[in-house]
Amino acid sequence: MEIILAKNKGMCFGVRRALDLAFKAAGPGRIYTYGPLVHNKDVVKDLEDKGISITELDDIKQGDLIIIRAHGVSDKELDAIKKKGAEVIDATCPFVSKVKKDAKEMQEKGFRVVMLGQKDHPEIRGIAESLRDPIIISSTEDAREMKQEIKDKRIGFVSQTTQSEKSFNGVLEVLKDVCAEVDVSNTICNATSERQESAKRTASESDIMLVVGDKRSANTNKLAELCSEITETRHIENVSELRPEWFKGMKTAGITAGASTPDWIVDEVVDRLKQIQQI
Ligand code: SF4
Repeated sequence: MEIILAKNKGMCFGVRRALDLAFKAAGPGRIYTYGPLVHNKDVVKDLEDKGISITELDDIKQGDLIIIRAHGVSDKELDAIKKKGAEVIDATCPFVSKVKKDAKEMQEKGFRVVMLGQKDHPEIRGIAESLRDPIIISSTEDAREMKQEIKDKRIGFVSQTTQSEKSFNGVLEVLKDVCAEVDVSNTICNATSERQESAKRTASESDIMLVVGDKRSANTNKLAELCSEITETRHIENVSELRPEWFKGMKTAGITAGASTPDWIVDEVVDRLKQIQQI
């Protein structure tokens, strides 16, 4: 059986950077991540073993070391954490920080900010709460529905980093059509789309596809959904869930992993698969 690894898989730059910063910070004292650093049980346990657990605002005490996750927080939340006397390591992904920076600059220039994204996502919440009255929309249809509200206005347009280019361009077209002026910054990060395209390509070459990652991770679930439309797909959290009988009669097995799955979990799956290959 041939094993095919998806070209783009596993942790993205921002999550990898946040984890590196957290592991480097490990040591004596009260060290916490503000919310889970990644949606992956094994990583959260690994951090806990190193003395880094999860906290929330009410539990923060003077002198705590708080690590802000890759999705970031609002300016208000950051101030509240600092006011409690905590020291902060800001592991916000630089691509997420750029969305906030660009949106604030647009606002300062007098544009009302329209954000494309999911209202309840921590990234969008953190940015929206740092702005004055932004409009959050999740599709081109939403943009069409708010035509009256934005007609002849000066609008600044940014996007949640994980949105698709297709939605971004669709909304932009509507804005350009109805607004007096549009200041635009394409803040999409390609990590998600690259992983999805790569997973689909690998699935199309494989008799069976393994998607490795936490079952609560939205981006991992999306990869599993996309692959299962193409070939037989198994979504596993780690090597302990791998079953040799799945591979009977299979000539090719593809592997991909979600953006919150660390390399060592993928490596263990690959190693086990190589053992199965020899049975
Ligand atoms: S998906 Fe992109 S923006 Fe989001 S954390 Fe990863 S690198 Fe940063």
